[in-house]
Amino acid sequence: MFRNFYLRSSVIAFSSAAVGLFIASCAAAPPPEADEADGPEPTEDRDDAVGIKTVGEAVNQTCTTAAVKGLSAQIIAEGQCIMPNAYAEVPDLDNISFGPNVFAFLETPARDALVKALQANPSKSMSVNSMLRTVAQQYLLYRWYQLGKCGIGLAAKPGNSNHETGLAMDINEYSTWKTALKSVGFSWYGSGDAVHFDYTGKGAVSYKGVDVEAFQRLWNRNHPEDLIDADGVWGPQTEARMKKAPPDGFEKGADCNTDPDPNPDPDPDPQACGSYPEGTYQCAPDGNSRGKCESGQLTTEACSNGCLIKSSADDVCMGTTTSWSCDGTWGTKKADNGDYYVTAFGCYKDENGTLQQDPGDNCIPACLSQAKSAGLCANMTGPTCEATVNWYAADAGRFGCLARLRVTNPKNGKSVVVVALDYGPNCSIEKQVSHAALDLSYPANFYLFGSEQGIVDKAKVHVVEVDASTPLGPVTK
Ligand SMILES: [Zn+2]
Repeated sequence: MFRNFYLRSSVIAFSSAAVGLFIASCAAAPPPEADEADGPEPTEDRDDAVGIKTVGEAVNQTCTTAAVKGLSAQIIAEGQCIMPNAYAEVPDLDNISFGPNVFAFLETPARDALVKALQANPSKSMSVNSMLRTVAQQYLLYRWYQLGKCGIGLAAKPGNSNHETGLAMDINEYSTWKTALKSVGFSWYGSGDAVHFDYTGKGAVSYKGVDVEAFQRLWNRNHPEDLIDADGVWGPQTEARMKKAPPDGFEKGADCNTDPDPNPDPDPDPQACGSYPEGTYQCAPDGNSRGKCESGQLTTEACSNGCLIKSSADDVCMGTTTSWSCDGTWGTKKADNGDYYVTAFGCYKDENGTLQQDPGDNCIPACLSQAKSAGLCANMTGPTCEATVNWYAADAGRFGCLARLRVTNPKNGKSVVVVALDYGPNCSIEKQVSHAALDLSYPANFYLFGSEQGIVDKAKVHVVEVDASTPLGPVTK
């Protein structure tokens, strides 16, 4: 483990003096990841192909997600209209086979990575049990789980399964393929859900909510008398319509050219652009895309590496160019590619509830007054504020006080949302490696890397600015 020293807003901390303290605290286990295991999905052919008129009836009368195959095919096709790269078809290569009702789609970078692994290992065969799952299928699984039916031990709420994002697949021969899949960017879930792999490699984006929005658009196209918000968020309104939807598909299916609003307004609809400004690209609240309004029409673009907020120009999708400069006390220019090396700072409570503090660090963050007035640290001292917030960063010089950042370790795919509470690290730290750095709380270091990181570790993270309403802490996909 390497350490570095760095300048806080008010304190110079020579942290190598703290090594002893933090060897002790490194033994503290990082917080456990939320359980994402969702068990096997029953996808056998339906035995009762006739007579089921609604998805609600399918909940009671079947035990296979194939019951909503027709509706699911429409949701996938409509999703391809919304986000062209979200659901790319996996080609039928010689060494891959799919269960009879598997939807063979992954998002484009995941699909390309899988094809690469298959082509590099022509003598190994792979059989897929589950890949893309639509919100209609997830709804069945979730209801069966709630009702204790069909042997479903655990299921995510609709809209929240990794299988709905185009990143996940379940395969029978997981031990045979583990190494090959890992080398192209897939992560194995582990023994808790041994058949499950998630793509966390280059270009991975979570298309969470695209299937929900696709369903909402289909519903609206077929029910102009009963319009609902097409916002991609699963809630009671959407659930009520899902219950009534036809499992074999709507009369009017996917259509990339029709306005999803069945009552088009001749005037530009101010609602169509939401909060996106006219004429200038702005990052989406989740940092995964950007949009702008042109004559009342919304144009959006997916940003596979995240979206970079620019103060006085179009926000841009992060590319592969590297830029770094640090000339003052601390960095003020954001890295164009979103990549930073991690360092550690600040106060936190360990698992025994004991406050841990670097000697020489008073743990009074420079953004304390803003954090107090925002209610994040009302009536708190600096150390209590840091220990209570737990998931925080410095780099307010680049992002501004209280900016929220989604920080991802590209090596293991883990992400955490933190809030900027302080300035720093000092430019002298970044100059050691000629690279932008992000000073992160110890709990964030432990969660992302399993231990604290110093500048010479060159532990890379990818940083995307997200909306102020994004919850702090680990991101469970
Ligand atoms: Zn799975």
